[in-house]
Amino acid sequence: MSLDLTLRLVEAVGTTAAGSTVLIDVDGPGDVEVAQRWAAGSNNTVLAVHPDAVEIYRGRMADPIKALSPDRRPGYRLWVYTNFHCNLSCDYCCVSSSPKARRRIIATDEFAQLVDEAGSAGVEELYLTGGEPFMLIDLDERLRHATAAFPTTVLTNAMVWQGDRLRRLEALPREGLTLQISLDSATPRLHDRHRGAGSFETAVAGIRQAIDLGFRIRVAATLGSDAGTSEVELAAFFDELGLSADQRVVRRIAKQGSANAGLTVSRSSLIPEVCVTADGVWWHPVAAADPAMQVNDHWAPLADTIEAVRSEYRAHRIAGDVLASTFPCA
Ligand code: SF4
Repeated sequence: MSLDLTLRLVEAVGTTAAGSTVLIDVDGPGDVEVAQRWAAGSNNTVLAVHPDAVEIYRGRMADPIKALSPDRRPGYRLWVYTNFHCNLSCDYCCVSSSPKARRRIIATDEFAQLVDEAGSAGVEELYLTGGEPFMLIDLDERLRHATAAFPTTVLTNAMVWQGDRLRRLEALPREGLTLQISLDSATPRLHDRHRGAGSFETAVAGIRQAIDLGFRIRVAATLGSDAGTSEVELAAFFDELGLSADQRVVRRIAKQGSANAGLTVSRSSLIPEVCVTADGVWWHPVAAADPAMQVNDHWAPLADTIEAVRSEYRAHRIAGDVLASTFPCA
């Protein structure tokens, strides 16, 4: 351990008040490691690592990751954008998917590698999304690989199950697979306004088709400022379909992608759900085309990627707690 750095740590942290922070100059990853080991051994907390300094909190802070329920901890779920092209062009699509969108397909062998690595990286559930994943003619192969390893959910608008795609759907395993189907309202008015004329009827037919084929389904609605009383009507429709509470999702539009209004999200405000696309790793699937939400341009090794996301989440939470407790105006 570097004696000079250790002396500086002891002096600077030792003379700052408990609950305060101090910046210590460092010169490279070796110094950062020294500071982290010193903090761990002296009951202090490294708050953030900057390019040329580490910020140390005097005292031990509880691990924000452990405060989350296990299924909310970053890395429990792994999201994968299999592709970005879609048969629809919804006006609020968070990643601006459409028939003309750049496809960004994750190659089949890379997808298999990702699923295999997810097992050793501690992942417990897989979520596949897009774009419309069923636009990929080999999605059935990917789903077989995924469901053999994890409970797997695939998000879909349920509109492309005809011909060969329908035959491949019918042959999919039911065990370990959930089809999460998008439906924004109980009547065509709202759904078609945002998703295109005629899309409601086809989506409802897809929901009934999936139920008849014996799939476990979940129905997910995305609501905007024009939703009015549609949530109440949707609940009645979900009852009619026989959906239990865990088969219903209602969320708000995020101001991402094609949406020109909605909830604002950021890395400091959102609990991360690690999300892999052909372009790299993202903080959360709702913002998988937002440059500010990109964590990395590659996902391997996946365990390191998940740890990096956890570390950044810890830093955001701890920094927020410090700010909340150290902002005296007088
Ligand atoms: S919201 Fe879903 S269905 Fe609509 S364009 Fe985006 S990916 Fe396609």
